[in-house]
Amino acid sequence: MTNPMPVFFLGHGSPMNAIEDNAWTRGWEAAAAAAPEPRAVLCISAHWETQGLAVTAEQNPSTIHDFGGFPQALFEVEYPAPGSPELARRVRDLLGPAPVRLAKDWGLDHGAWSVLCRMYPDADVPVVQLSLDRTLDAQGHFDVGARLAPLREEGVLVVGSGDIVHNLRAANFRDPTPVDWALRFRDRANALIAARDYDALVHHERLGEDAALSINSAEHYLPLLYVLALRREAEPIATFNDDVFAAISMTCLRVG
Ligand code: ZN
Repeated sequence: MTNPMPVFFLGHGSPMNAIEDNAWTRGWEAAAAAAPEPRAVLCISAHWETQGLAVTAEQNPSTIHDFGGFPQALFEVEYPAPGSPELARRVRDLLGPAPVRLAKDWGLDHGAWSVLCRMYPDADVPVVQLSLDRTLDAQGHFDVGARLAPLREEGVLVVGSGDIVHNLRAANFRDPTPVDWALRFRDRANALIAARDYDALVHHERLGEDAALSINSAEHYLPLLYVLALRREAEPIATFNDDVFAAISMTCLRVG
C-alpha cells in the first residue's frame, strides 16, 4: 500500500516569482521538498483556456512566455521538463467519454513553469497540462477534477495553479497594499475551504460583491475547484503563502 500523492493549489502571482527569491518562492520550494517525489505532474493552469478539454501530449513541451512587459531575463527562462504522452492518454481515458484533445499546439505556460521551476529546478519530473474547458460551468470543472482521483494512486502530483483572488483591473499594482475586499474574500474562501463548503465555493456567484471582484473572470479561481474535488473525506488540508498583494492572493494549499 502506498499513500496517495498530495494535491497542491498554488497561488502563482506575478511571473517574476520564477526568477525572484522571496517568501513565496521559498514556500513553494519547501512544499515540494516535503512531498513525495512525483512520477509526473499534472498541472491545471489559469493560463490555458480552451473550448473543449485538451491535454498536452508533446514529448518535449516548449516553454511559453505568455506575458508582456517584463524584463528580458524572464523571457530567457527555459524549463525543459519532459512531457508524458502516456500520462496525457491516461488523463484522456479517465475523463472519457467526454472528448479530450491530445494537444500538440501548447507547451508549458507560465502558470505551470513559473512555479514548477522553483519546486523541481532540475526539470526532471515530466509535466502534462490539462486545459480549462471554458464551455463548462464551475460545477463541471469540479466534476472533471474528481475524475482525476486515480492519478493520486499512480504517483502523479496534481497541481492547480492560479490565484483565489485575482483582479488585475481593480487595483494599482505599483502599490502592494492589499485592498479591503481582497482580504475579506481571502478570509471567506479560507473559511469555506476549512468548512468543506465546496458547494458555496462552486456557486461563488452567490457569495456577494467581494467574491465578484475577487474572482472576476474566474480563470485564476477555477484551478482551486480541481484541487478541492480531489480531497478525500477527513483528509488534512494545510495553507501556506497566505498573503495578499494589491488584488492578488498568493494563498497555497496542500491536500493530504
Ligand atoms: Zn496568472
